[in-house]
Amino acid sequence: MIRTDVLIIGSGVAGLSFAVKMAEKFPERHISIVTKSDEDESNTKYAQGGVAVVLDEKEDSFQNHIRDTLIAGDGLCNEAVVEMVVTEGPKRLKELIDWGANFDVDAEGNFDLGKEGGHSAYRVVHHKDITGYEVERALLDRVAQLSNISILSHHFVIDLITDHHIEASNAGSISCFGAYVLNEHSKEVLTIQAGSTLLASGGIGRVYGHTTNPIIATGDGIAMAYRAKARIKDMEFVQFHPTALYNEDGGSSFLISEAVRGFGAFLRTKNGNRFMPDYDDRAELASRDIVSQSIDRELKKSGDLCVYLDCTHLDMSAFKLHFPNIYAKCKENQIDIETDWIPVVPASHYLCGGIVVDANGKTSISNLFACGECSSTGLHGANRLASNSLLEALVYAHNIFQYISENPRPSQFPKIPEWINKGNDSPNEQHLIQNNLEQLQALMRNYVGIIRTDDHLQKAIGRLDVIYKTVEDLYKTYPVHTGLCELRNMINVAHLIIGQSIERTENKGGYFNLDN
Ligand SMILES: Cc1cc2nc3c(=O)[nH]c(=O)nc-3n(C[C@H](O)[C@H](O)[C@H](O)COP(=O)(O)OP(=O)(O)OC[C@H]3O[C@@H](n4cnc5c(N)ncnc54)[C@H](O)[C@@H]3O)c2cc1C
Repeated sequence: MIRTDVLIIGSGVAGLSFAVKMAEKFPERHISIVTKSDEDESNTKYAQGGVAVVLDEKEDSFQNHIRDTLIAGDGLCNEAVVEMVVTEGPKRLKELIDWGANFDVDAEGNFDLGKEGGHSAYRVVHHKDITGYEVERALLDRVAQLSNISILSHHFVIDLITDHHIEASNAGSISCFGAYVLNEHSKEVLTIQAGSTLLASGGIGRVYGHTTNPIIATGDGIAMAYRAKARIKDMEFVQFHPTALYNEDGGSSFLISEAVRGFGAFLRTKNGNRFMPDYDDRAELASRDIVSQSIDRELKKSGDLCVYLDCTHLDMSAFKLHFPNIYAKCKENQIDIETDWIPVVPASHYLCGGIVVDANGKTSISNLFACGECSSTGLHGANRLASNSLLEALVYAHNIFQYISENPRPSQFPKIPEWINKGNDSPNEQHLIQNNLEQLQALMRNYVGIIRTDDHLQKAIGRLDVIYKTVEDLYKTYPVHTGLCELRNMINVAHLIIGQSIERTENKGGYFNLDN
């Protein structure tokens, strides 16, 4: 049994920035970060474009950023939240810079602001095309300087500990007391009790197989919050990134940033047709959902497996300066951007919904907060505006910190039973997990993808149920195991996406059902 003041699940921008704030303000409190892979592995690490924030008030304004966010969200944003996040942005960015993050500046020393799809102004602060890597680096460096933070890497959180684990539970309300955590090395399950718990566990991309997310993105936090009976919302709004580098094998795909289209690249079919102007006046700079749906329609029309991003007309020395990582990655894949078009496909990229939180990051469960991609704050509505998610995580990490600072409560430590591991090892386990995972991912791609139908969603429910029953049997039979827990979590997430898709009767933002 381990006791800590604050338990943070996840070491991306949300978890780390909250940890830094808490540790700086409360040197006497102990902050534990639990993360399932290497400490830097996260969606954060792969963010390319940057952080959307209004810094140049001559050329831009908070009102413009608010308006762009609301347009992308297609009427489903919480306007008060949008205003709060946008106006707090500059302060939160300054803190990040004070903690050591570097962003590109021009010859005069002003921030070199980028422009992405859906933005009406240049406002994206970036570090070359590896902004997330730089943010993660700076935050981990700052965390290492704070002796009251400990990071347990390769520790997988299995489930939250709530009233139903405790005999004398509180009828009516649900509280969180920490989490059961599997040490990947020793295979021991730790009981970590915490005064406050933050879910900062990131996204769900892997549920679809083809994704821009790394393999850690299995929706664990959302699934465990759902099992604990927290409110979960807007799961139907999965954002597909229009331009992931096409690879024949599927799986995690390298992202060709939207900023490349902002820089002037054209989307073409195999035959060279520049099709985006046919779909939207903003052409390649239309919001993500429009570009993804347009590509999906083109692919369905032609039967091709990918479309192409043409950069051959662009200033190549400027391109290499702005996108050295993309340039190198294409080269590695035998694509010479100066002469070749880049093959691209839409891939699952970002979840707009998640665990419902209020403006202080509080979930519907006492002592449980959520921040970052696993949360649903109301900022994104039906579609996230590019580069608003790092911003959202920074702003909410601050709000949660502020709330906990202003509302001290004695850490409550009831008696919690230790985890009981059941079952025996089986040599077939891995094979069964892999097989069911592939079935789940194919189901989500084919029946619950960019363009949905009522019939496909109904079929998806029936098929998911078969996978669910098989995997629940495995879960009850075998000792606890990360791959199996992740699969179980992805099934929960798929169930939420399908269920909330069926409930949606009007197409909005990133959601498109042919029968609506
Ligand atoms: C390729 C790519 C490019 C992007 N570009 C941009 C961009 O330019 N601008 C922008 O604003 N956003 C961008 N995004 C989105 C943005 O990066 C993410 O939304 C954001 O980083 C999420 O941060 P987070 O802290 O919520 O989660 P993450 O950074 O994903 O961190 C989640 C953490 O939780 C841990 N975790 C998960 N489950 C468990 C468990 N069961 N037990 C223990 N630990 C667990 C993970 O290991 C990880 O450490 C991009 C995303 C991708 C994938």
